[in-house]
Amino acid sequence: MQELRTIKPTDCAELIRHSSSVVALTGAGISTAAGIPDFRGPQGLYVTRRYDPEKVFDIRWFHREPRHFYEFAWDFINLLTAIRPTFTHFFLAQLAAAGNLDGVVTQNIDMLHQLAGSSKVNELHGSYGSASCCSCRRKYAGLTHSWWHETMRNSPLMPIALCPECKGVLKPEIVFFGEMVKSYDSAERLITDCDLLLVLGSSLTVTPASLLPYAALAITVVVNKGGVTLEPAPHRFFINCEIDDYFKKVASSLGVNSTDYICR
Ligand code: ZN
Repeated sequence: MQELRTIKPTDCAELIRHSSSVVALTGAGISTAAGIPDFRGPQGLYVTRRYDPEKVFDIRWFHREPRHFYEFAWDFINLLTAIRPTFTHFFLAQLAAAGNLDGVVTQNIDMLHQLAGSSKVNELHGSYGSASCCSCRRKYAGLTHSWWHETMRNSPLMPIALCPECKGVLKPEIVFFGEMVKSYDSAERLITDCDLLLVLGSSLTVTPASLLPYAALAITVVVNKGGVTLEPAPHRFFINCEIDDYFKKVASSLGVNSTDYICR
């Protein structure tokens, strides 16, 4: 059976150097080095803290009893307020600032790309950055992890976050099971138009994100610790390793001082 070919960091750096439009598609694996367990992995929050995945992210359960979600969200937000983006999050933000990266498409809800400085982030599964009230329908944007932490902590129904206006239940704009992913069409357009696609930290097993690499005719470099589900093709490469280890070498090859990222 044909296998995906590998590519050295120095050659990946050359691809980045000579591309006019790089796009990154990222999954849970880019954030594990920051200390966020992959929801679905062996150390996933569901497993280690015994949440019921059937109820945590199910939209019908949320409307029936939001506490299932908010018990998880309280721990998750506490985790997020204490962590920093990884080297690779900063690296992508720097590529964008230098004009090499056209955008990030992410499956993650942790907002670490924005924390690292990326502004053009297409969040397929949404995030805690915005919310809407289930009662008055008021929308809230520009929300931070600290805002959620305070709102949950001070809620009379703690940890259930309530609308500051009407005290209805707030729902973060995270995509629950039973809801459509966000901005898929714009993500697909971005990937179709790029001339280098970096797929980082995704095993490409969750639809519809797993379909996106097939929209790219461009050279596609997948870096993931563990396997990946992607049909081999001459323009596709796969490296099975720690993402930060690989991109520290890419950054070094591009002549970028890695401490610039870490110390921002
Ligand atoms: Zn309200």
